[in-house]
Amino acid sequence: MVNFTIQDVLIAVEDGYATVDVQVVDGKIAAIAPNIELIGTAIDGKNKLLLPGFFNAHTHSSEMWQRGIMSVLPLELWLAELYDFAPLDPEQVYLSALGTAVETLFSGGTSVVDHLVLIPGQELETIATAVRAYREVGIRAFIAPLIQDESITAGMPSGESTPIHEPYFRSTAATLEIIEEAVRQFHRPEEGVNILVAPTGIQLCTDALFAGCSELSDRYHLCRHSHLLETKAQEKLALEKYGCTAVAHLQRIGYLGDRTSLAHCVWLTDADIAILAETQSTVVHNPLSNLRLGSGIAPILKYRQAGVNVTFGCDGASSNDSQDLLEAIKIGSILHNVTDLDYQYWITPQQAVEMASLGGAKGLNIADKLGSLSVGKQADLVLYDLTNLSLLPRTDPIGLLVLGRPTNVVASAWVNGKQIISNGQFTTINVDELRQELFNRSQWETSRKSQTVAQIEPHYRTVMGL
Ligand SMILES: [Zn+2]
Repeated sequence: MVNFTIQDVLIAVEDGYATVDVQVVDGKIAAIAPNIELIGTAIDGKNKLLLPGFFNAHTHSSEMWQRGIMSVLPLELWLAELYDFAPLDPEQVYLSALGTAVETLFSGGTSVVDHLVLIPGQELETIATAVRAYREVGIRAFIAPLIQDESITAGMPSGESTPIHEPYFRSTAATLEIIEEAVRQFHRPEEGVNILVAPTGIQLCTDALFAGCSELSDRYHLCRHSHLLETKAQEKLALEKYGCTAVAHLQRIGYLGDRTSLAHCVWLTDADIAILAETQSTVVHNPLSNLRLGSGIAPILKYRQAGVNVTFGCDGASSNDSQDLLEAIKIGSILHNVTDLDYQYWITPQQAVEMASLGGAKGLNIADKLGSLSVGKQADLVLYDLTNLSLLPRTDPIGLLVLGRPTNVVASAWVNGKQIISNGQFTTINVDELRQELFNRSQWETSRKSQTVAQIEPHYRTVMGL
């Protein structure tokens, strides 16, 4: 492992900025102070800002193959279209995981939580492929294989009707067996590869699946992940299914806790918010996806006031349609200025940076190791070029980064002290080759029709009163 010292670099401190040297030894931050001894390689930090790496705390990498083309639909119908055209080739999974990692790193993220869609019948191969891609790039990976044990029509409220749903193609036990095998083969936190338990959400999962996931999480010390109350339809469905809110139900079955992160959380009651605070669960805010799918605006300022940890995600590129973490952070902070009158609670750029870094680490229960520039923490670092046109003229560096439209501003990035980006270029993979592969394996498309959307749309419109 190469030791290094970043010299004369700007960092954020309590009441502004300071120029310091940052020593990294054996992958950890060893010292932060002005004019300290050079250890290892010298890195020029002049006119650059150093921040802890952000977490892209919720995404689905293989959705990259359908970005830009998904119809303008709400989640339940959008999902049907998504699955009708889902990539079924592990090579595509590999390339989109590379692409997700690259775009995340280029926008300040050093960790990614990939709620990974599994190719039916090739589940372990899908996971192995994503692991291979993330190891090649060198991003810190939290792979959360997306599982369910109910078929897609069960994810909609039934309203007055008494629907019969097709059974899911794979049993709950077989699904859990796949996850346990993935843990045995791939869960290597010390090497930057983590497996999470990640039932997709209450809309498509039985209590048995949640219980099995909790059990695996306890046995192997795994973090837990899930979607939660993304849409109004899911709020209705929870009441039909459980006779209480989804949050109350998840608490009852013991899924919540300080290792649990929950994507979206748009439709929660005040009582639900109190439960998230009490259980120390984390909310992953995916504002672009929520806007794109018309899901709603999550009450993020209420969460923060209640003491709930909040961090940011891009969500999959089919509902975003990019993986620009800085964009998600910007929209995710200023969006709430229109929903909450009291400006004293509006999110400042400095708070947004803390949510994206320390907030992400808290959500994965590793805040003791990551998420801030602190001596002893692992060196997941990003160096921003403050002479870039999009960050000029010189005012407040973090204000420019969060509220501006930063373009190609990442000069260097390290994960666990290993340099991934140097002078704005990846040192680990060839991004031009990746670009060429993504180009060659796709084509311009103007129209396509989802059969499943056509089948389920009338029912959706009825139960949603449209
Ligand atoms: Zn998602």
